[in-house]
Amino acid sequence: MVEIMHCYRHPKRETRVSCAACGRPICTECMVQTEVGIKCPEDARLPRGARAGAMKGNQIAKTFLAGIAVALVGIPVAYVILQIGFGRLILSGLAGYLAGTLIHRAGGRNGGPLAMVISGVAVAIAYAPFVVVPILNGNVPVHYIFPALVAVGFAIYNSR
Ligand SMILES: [Zn+2]
Ligand SMILES: [Zn+2]
Repeated sequence: MVEIMHCYRHPKRETRVSCAACGRPICTECMVQTEVGIKCPEDARLPRGARAGAMKGNQIAKTFLAGIAVALVGIPVAYVILQIGFGRLILSGLAGYLAGTLIHRAGGRNGGPLAMVISGVAVAIAYAPFVVVPILNGNVPVHYIFPALVAVGFAIYNSR
């Protein structure tokens, strides 16, 4: 049995809900749905400032799209880069850097773990065919793995 409380803003109204932040009881009219549960109007306002810098829904969607674009465009780019003998590492670093920048901007320059994961995965996908296929055939293409790691590293670093 849940204890019946009274809304701290409307003392006459009964409620079983309390704020996830301060614990004060709140009625259905006062309660605000947030990502971390139901909150009172005062506490629901606070996280908005604290959350500044986190990606919003459309920025997350754009980050995903940028990641897909990087993966698709990245495959031919990675192919060309890997055909070049000398400068492969530098070009891979540059490509990763650009990929990270693109994904970072797509997310409204907020960065964060999600942007970093998307960047890393997108660039890894771009290099995957040239690294994974030889491995499946029994060869470990060290001269491809290093540029791939450099590209992934730069992409993650630059979208943080
Ligand atoms: Zn509260
Ligand atoms: Zn109320």
